[in-house]
Amino acid sequence: STFSYTFDTPAYKGTATINTGLFIGGEWVDPVEPATIDVINPVNGKVITAIAAGSSKDVDIAVAAAHKAFKTSWGLKCPGATRGRLLNKLADLMEENIDELTALEALDVGKVFTLARGTEIPASIKCIRYFAGWADKIQGKSIETTENKLAYTRHEPYGVVGQIIPWNVPMVMLSWKVGPALATGNTILLKPSEITPLSALKFADLVNQAGFPPGVFNIVNGYGHSVGQAISEHPAITKLSFTGSTFTGRKILKAAAETNLKVVTLELGGKSPTIIFDDADLEQAIKWASHGIFFNMGQACTAGSRIFVQEGIYDQFLAKFTAVAKALGDAIGDPFSPTTRHGPQVSQAQFDRIMSYIEVGKAEGGKVVIGGERHGEEGYFIKPTIFTNCTTDMKIVQEEIFGPVCAVMKFKTEEEAIELGNDTIYGLGCNIFTENTSRAIRVAHAMETGSAWVNHAHIPELSVPFGGYKQSGIGRELGEYALETYTQVKGVHINI
Ligand code: NAD
Repeated sequence: STFSYTFDTPAYKGTATINTGLFIGGEWVDPVEPATIDVINPVNGKVITAIAAGSSKDVDIAVAAAHKAFKTSWGLKCPGATRGRLLNKLADLMEENIDELTALEALDVGKVFTLARGTEIPASIKCIRYFAGWADKIQGKSIETTENKLAYTRHEPYGVVGQIIPWNVPMVMLSWKVGPALATGNTILLKPSEITPLSALKFADLVNQAGFPPGVFNIVNGYGHSVGQAISEHPAITKLSFTGSTFTGRKILKAAAETNLKVVTLELGGKSPTIIFDDADLEQAIKWASHGIFFNMGQACTAGSRIFVQEGIYDQFLAKFTAVAKALGDAIGDPFSPTTRHGPQVSQAQFDRIMSYIEVGKAEGGKVVIGGERHGEEGYFIKPTIFTNCTTDMKIVQEEIFGPVCAVMKFKTEEEAIELGNDTIYGLGCNIFTENTSRAIRVAHAMETGSAWVNHAHIPELSVPFGGYKQSGIGRELGEYALETYTQVKGVHINI
């Protein structure tokens, strides 16, 4: 069935229409066992619509459709140039529907429409284009061997890949996974988060319009413990790419290990440090530290939730940073208002989790200098929150909160900053602020993180690999590395 929503808001006027079924073999179908999941509006807690919820039976059907497409019309049967052309066509269609895609995410995630319209959704389109460009440039090597032999490598697709994504940046996560998987010739079974399925359903329609062969891209919505688990265990899925929490990542790796040893890429949680030296451009550091933690209401895997400031500028930084957080808190509200800069958290569960972390922080001796409370009577709004008086052993400094909550702490020396920054089980990113280039490079190299940003904060580049050290993940997305993620290498030996 279809769902239409008319937006009559200051930021966007228009109607978005999606199909709420499962997208299998190029068609919209109902689940084998009828079931639905309510999609909730985080602004007021009300039900927006209900979407079809699949089970392991639907996963089986979707994998069969994806497998058939791989063997007959995609994979080694479809030239790279054709795959690239279709991906570019898809990106064109996303561009034509950019307002609708953005509005759907603002509706179910609670993203601020004007911000998402200017950044994330265009970035998702660029990502599909970036990988479209790689589709006909996947090359092996010719290798020197013993006499009278020719050997070369081929980078071949896996076949059916499973992709499981979280709710915080749905279209970005989808594009990071779908772009390289299709460019390299795989077919896909995608499971969006059950909390934020809307934009992916719109995307599926665009896949059909672009003219992809049926079964190349499939969506089965549903819960993690049913559909997610079935994907992780499926014997015909040989590659699985997951983005989400470290807790779920562990379960997926276990399921893969105990079934068919599928190759697993994991993009997991983080507790990224922002390190500000006293020679930094303070205004820039404050601007980026704020973006680092408060972007997307703190719901970012690379959120700079631990801010370490060198003692000489600590007081000045804290005063100005607090003022910035206050201004952001004053611009909290309806995601469809053009003046809003900070929306709600995604769900009641996340709201409760973050509020309980704020209480834990206070009980541990942390001091709330701004925020620390909800905004309004309804919905899941939390004001940007800064803690001081924190030590690195505190729960709010060690655990991923995934909300607009940070701890600002002091350090004396470069050595100490590195030690404090690395004092975590996570290793996704770090943000370093200094005008001393040698120091910037030294610290970037010393950090145990998959990404290091100098004098800006957590802006991924499509051409640069992204992923985690330590318990933040396994494998890399984006850039040329993503092609490795979605291909397996064959060595061909020829006796001549
Ligand atoms: P989550 O782990 O709860 O869920 C992620 C996805 O996994 C959802 O689609 C969910 O339905 C599914 N899932 C849940 N249980 C499953 C199971 N047993 N088997 C298979 N699939 C299952 O995470 P979330 O709350 O949606 O997202 C927040 C987390 O994602 C944070 O920890 C954040 O750091 C992380 N994240 C990481 C990155 C990155 O690139 N490293 C990016 C965005 C978000």
